[in-house]
Amino acid sequence: MPEVLVLVDHDGEHVNKATYELLAAARRMGDPAAVVVGTPGTATRLRESLARHGATSVHAAESTDAAEFLVTPAVDALELAVRETAAAAVLVSATTDGREVAGRLAARLDAGLLVDAVDLDSSGVVTQIVFGGSYTVRSHVTHGIPVIAVRPGAFEPEEHPVEAGERKLALPPIAPAASARITARRAAPAGDRPGLTEATVVVSGGRGVAGADGFKVVEELADALGGAVGASRAAVDAGYYPHQYQVGQTGKTVSPQLYIALGISGAIQHLAGMQTSRTILAVNKDPEAPILGLADYGVVGDLFSVAPQLTREMAAR
Ligand code: FAD
Repeated sequence: MPEVLVLVDHDGEHVNKATYELLAAARRMGDPAAVVVGTPGTATRLRESLARHGATSVHAAESTDAAEFLVTPAVDALELAVRETAAAAVLVSATTDGREVAGRLAARLDAGLLVDAVDLDSSGVVTQIVFGGSYTVRSHVTHGIPVIAVRPGAFEPEEHPVEAGERKLALPPIAPAASARITARRAAPAGDRPGLTEATVVVSGGRGVAGADGFKVVEELADALGGAVGASRAAVDAGYYPHQYQVGQTGKTVSPQLYIALGISGAIQHLAGMQTSRTILAVNKDPEAPILGLADYGVVGDLFSVAPQLTREMAAR
């Protein structure tokens, strides 16, 4: 079976759940091979958990300054891995960084690029969401090795224990002049909630929440469900909630098991970031709100009455 290269998203100690999803997707096309970019020793630390999720080999692209640059080391590493293996495809997560890596890699390899993949099959046919979610299309790459950016949450992570060999990739020295260097890192305020793109439940508030204080109802419901909090752009622009929680075309893309939209109308740009959620529940006081046309479950009512009832119900279980 040919290798399918998967770019590993990690914090140096732990592998991000989205990577396990990529490994599950890669197994449909061949043998998943993990590409770890990081400081020396990272691949060895991550190998066991990658092997438990089906990575048959781990390509280590390590250097002392790999973590100081934005996407360049990952692009270099994947290019090297592609040139040194007969890989069938490259999969990355369709995060902000992942999309940039995928675009740059495809340009370097003169290869076809498919973004926002939500499904793929063994022949390389990919289902993708295009034009901000207006269409779902099936595509395949006709030139070069397919570079595929997969939406986080589109695949289920699967345990599939295998033996993974480790192989070193000789990462070329990074030319600082040609790369964006990270000068400082500021951690987002830590909390007990799961990350927005990793969560199995996301509860989002929109302009209907009517203020920063109103987001307390959103947070309480999210906490009762063990979920993450999201926001529409209108809520973020109005200063109700911080920007890093924005869901949509110009925010984060989420695909949880359950997405709850509170006081969100359902503009196409918002739908672009959440419409692949497994189940969508919308609460809106306007029966004509477009989100109710997409939602699996719609409640026409005041969110300040409906959401606390849901929270109490969940807390009682
Ligand atoms: P509104 O459209 O104002 O809807 C508020 C809803 O709340 C209404 O349906 C109303 O009936 C309901 N409501 C009010 N009070 C209550 C109540 N008490 N109980 C229940 N329901 C109530 N938007 C995004 O979200 N994400 C993006 O990434 C994004 N990117 C964009 C990119 C571009 C280039 C552009 C042009 C726009 C983008 N937008 C994005 C903005 C988008 O077009 C909408 O303006 C935005 O999504 C609207 O947010 P909203 O649904 O919260 O507000």
